[in-house]
Amino acid sequence: MSHGVKTLGVLGAGQMGGGIAQVAAVAGITVKVFDSFPGAIDKCKGVHKKSLSKLAEKAVITQEVADAAIGRISFVDKLENLTGCDWIVEAVVEDVKVKKDLFSRLAAMYPDENVVLASNTSSISITDIATACGKSASRVVGMHFFNPVPLMKLVEVIPGLQTSPAAVERTIALATACGKTPLKANDRAGFISNRVLMPMINEAFYAWMEGVAEPQAIDGIMKLGCNFPMGPLTLADFIGLDTCVNIMDVLAEGLNNGRYRACPLLKQLVVAGRMGVKSGRGVYEYPAK
Ligand code: NAD
Repeated sequence: MSHGVKTLGVLGAGQMGGGIAQVAAVAGITVKVFDSFPGAIDKCKGVHKKSLSKLAEKAVITQEVADAAIGRISFVDKLENLTGCDWIVEAVVEDVKVKKDLFSRLAAMYPDENVVLASNTSSISITDIATACGKSASRVVGMHFFNPVPLMKLVEVIPGLQTSPAAVERTIALATACGKTPLKANDRAGFISNRVLMPMINEAFYAWMEGVAEPQAIDGIMKLGCNFPMGPLTLADFIGLDTCVNIMDVLAEGLNNGRYRACPLLKQLVVAGRMGVKSGRGVYEYPAK
């Protein structure tokens, strides 16, 4: 089945939205990105320039492909200006209220049922997000990319209870066209990736909080002992510590089990503004280049 996408709308110009916009543009799709914070848009433009030049330098893509991709991406700072899209991927903050509000507005803006409304949520129930679209819930699907999007191969495809088989098949086709490997998981909190990964990251924060080892040792032990490409605390810094807390909250609530509660130290770092790489400091420091 063809995905049938000419113009992709992306909600959120952060780490994930920016990456999704980039891979779709490289695949030849016109992309319109919406973010309500103008600073985010400028940052995203800078990230695209840097990331695409790096890929061209490494001969992963040609300079022509990189330039053409930049030319295919435009930005808007108001949702009502995100017009003319035939597919939307939402990648804003991991907050169910914010996502449902946007999905109900999208359903009204795009009455055509062929316009798929996908969410890049890491953990929130697709079935729940879809309820915000009322009668057109069957076109809502989970399309979960991984960070950094231009490099990571997987897209987890998650049908909600209401999702139509056609929306799932087209999501698989779009992910494949973007150079990714789609794999399906059912709609339970955290799906597969975060249900398995996030409790391990949370446990690493507990180990640090309890003084079992310092962060460098925790990361080093997991890297060298388990052959991970990076340790769990470093990975948390890349994901964003705020996003990690949000995902743990969703697991605790969605799986109805207290063992998924976020570690107090992880929560405390977020309160202190230490979100990870994106804020310049999380577990580790990331001085501005
Ligand atoms: P981020 O903080 O880098 O970006 C979120 C963006 O959304 C920001 O630019 C913010 O300005 C924008 N935003 C927030 N509220 C908005 C609103 N109401 N309208 C429009 N824009 C709004 O976060 P991220 O890491 O890109 O995560 C985005 C989504 O992707 C989350 O649902 C997250 O769980 C999911 N996700 C994250 C990762 C990861 O590793 N970071 C991986 C897979 C999925």
